[in-house]
Amino acid sequence: MEYNKEKQHQIYLRRKDKQAAWRKVYYQDNKDKLLADSRRWYQENKEKRASYVKRHRLKRRLEALIHYGNGKLACIRCGFTDERALSIDHINNDGAEHRRQMYGDKLPDPRLYMWLRARSYPEGFQTLCMNCQFIKERERQGVTHLTGQEVYDIITD
Ligand SMILES: [Zn+2]
Repeated sequence: MEYNKEKQHQIYLRRKDKQAAWRKVYYQDNKDKLLADSRRWYQENKEKRASYVKRHRLKRRLEALIHYGNGKLACIRCGFTDERALSIDHINNDGAEHRRQMYGDKLPDPRLYMWLRARSYPEGFQTLCMNCQFIKERERQGVTHLTGQEVYDIITD
C-alpha cells in the first residue's frame, strides 16, 4: 500500500514536470497569439473591469470612512453625512508628511484606504467633512471663528 502510494506520487510528479515543460514550449510557439488573445480579452472587458475597480475602491473608501466615523458614515465633528464630501483626516496634521513617506508627492487616496485596511485601521485618523477639515486647518493657523459682534464691528468700520 505504502509502496503504491509512493509510486503513484512519483508518476504524478513526472507528469507534472512534463506538463510544465509542454506548457512552456506551447507558450513559446504560440506567444503572439496568446498575447493577442489576452490583449483582446482585456479590451473587450475593459469597461467591466473599470466598473469593478471603481466599485471596489468605493467599498474600501466607505469602509474606512465608517470606521473612522466611529461606526457612522458621517463627519465626527458636525455629523454631515454626504459621503461625497467626507474624507479621512490625519488627526495630528501629518497627512502631507505621511503621504510623502508612503508614495512621494502624489495624492493617491484609494491607496490610503487600502493602506489603512491592510493595517487594520490604525489610530490617528478620523472622518471629517471638507468644511470641518478646512476649519481645522484655519484653527491650526490661529484663525478664529468671528462672533456676530466682531463681524458687525468689521463691516461697520
Ligand atoms: Zn463636519
